[in-house]
Amino acid sequence: ALSDRLGNTFDRLRGRGALREQDVRDAMREVRIALLEADVALPVARDFIAKVTEKAVGESVLKSVTPGQQVVKIVNDELVAMLGGGANAEGGEDGHVPLTLDAKPPVVIMMVGLQGSGKTTSTAKLGKLIREKHGKKAMMASLDVNRPAAQEQLAVLGEQAQVDTLPIIEGQQPVDIARRALESAKLRNVDVVLLDTAGRLHVDEALMAEMKAVASVATPTEVLLVVDSLTGQDAVNVAQSFSDEVPLTGVILTRMDGDARGGAALSMRAVTGKPIKFAGVGEKLDALEAFHPRRVAERILGMGDVVSLVEKAAESIKVEEAELLAKRMAKGQFDLNDLRMQLQQMQNMGGLGMLAGMMPGMKKAKQAMQASGMDDKVLVHMDAIMGSMTPKERANPALLNAKRKKRVAAGSGTQVQDVNKVLKMHQEMSRAMKQIKKMGGMKGLAAMLG
Ligand code: GDP
Ligand code: MG
Repeated sequence: ALSDRLGNTFDRLRGRGALREQDVRDAMREVRIALLEADVALPVARDFIAKVTEKAVGESVLKSVTPGQQVVKIVNDELVAMLGGGANAEGGEDGHVPLTLDAKPPVVIMMVGLQGSGKTTSTAKLGKLIREKHGKKAMMASLDVNRPAAQEQLAVLGEQAQVDTLPIIEGQQPVDIARRALESAKLRNVDVVLLDTAGRLHVDEALMAEMKAVASVATPTEVLLVVDSLTGQDAVNVAQSFSDEVPLTGVILTRMDGDARGGAALSMRAVTGKPIKFAGVGEKLDALEAFHPRRVAERILGMGDVVSLVEKAAESIKVEEAELLAKRMAKGQFDLNDLRMQLQQMQNMGGLGMLAGMMPGMKKAKQAMQASGMDDKVLVHMDAIMGSMTPKERANPALLNAKRKKRVAAGSGTQVQDVNKVLKMHQEMSRAMKQIKKMGGMKGLAAMLG
């Protein structure tokens, strides 16, 4: 799968301490192949690689302490943008672009797409969602007069979804059905009208003419293109044809529950210029998910942890704190208050495992910690132990005599020997810190934290 291939490439990138421009270019070639194999349209893949490469071969990335992580982050951000969730996108925090429902009622949503793409099912899913989640009165109408029983199919789904459907009048043509739907909606104070249109097996002129005629009568607020994600490259071509002919406002990708290779989702935004608003993830009426570019990118990369680590590292460790710490250490003042602050930062950043490879200057300290049997659970215990000490004791660990240690152990639900371990670790770290100082490591550390 796409995420496996990308995962392997990135694991290799991250495994290296230093990166040369050529390493990045090699990795990008692999990413390009992975994208194409996943059916991403060629121009889209090309554009993607060009953007990522330009950013990733810059000095600030290659010369950073964590080049591999930075590259993963760049790929992720570009992927999010490609899926429609970039900084300038109209979507919210994770990039989801919601339905526009606050126009003057009745708001019309028109569903378009090829036959079998999942239009009728998606119409009923949306009807249900609008009733349940938005608390609005919805009505659905089938304009599919080509396919036998298409209108009955919507009526049946409407009953399941508890959403009214426009009564069927045999022989009425799509444009007239659309008119009747609007009139009925106005009379009955319906907030949202969903128009399920006919599809064809292929895009043709008659279909497009029908869509345009319906759109000019119904003046829809939303025109949603429904595409089957399993059709890969074809889905992209279909999207292209529809978006050339009708003013789309968004896309619904169906069958995302199947083992689609992901390419359709990745190309859709670039090709239509419109956001993917929902993903169909099954046949049931509640199998519809809001489409979140950030979450999807994370799933594709399988690297959500790395991305959030890079983001967190930037926000959770303040340069000033690091500099203050550096100064205190330079004076040999690394006390338990400092140690505690450091451990809390580590936890913020995802614990010990995440520290691996992040802070070359911290290697010694980390070895000392591992030597004293540390893991992430121990981090939590240690925090509790230091939390049970008074600030004075933390500033001057020598104060901790046997009696005080007993109190600290009781206060943190641990044993005196655990308290001793923390003290020992602190001593070892102080020693390691002094060594780092000699190597000039803190300067590099502070630079990285900036
Ligand atoms: P239409 O011709 O575009 O109206 O397509 P339909 O709504 O009739 O759907 C065709 C088939 O695809 C039906 O059997 C649906 O149950 C199925 N289907 C629609 N959306 C999804 C989806 O997201 N996942 C899965 N697994 N099946 C879907
Ligand atoms: Mg249908």
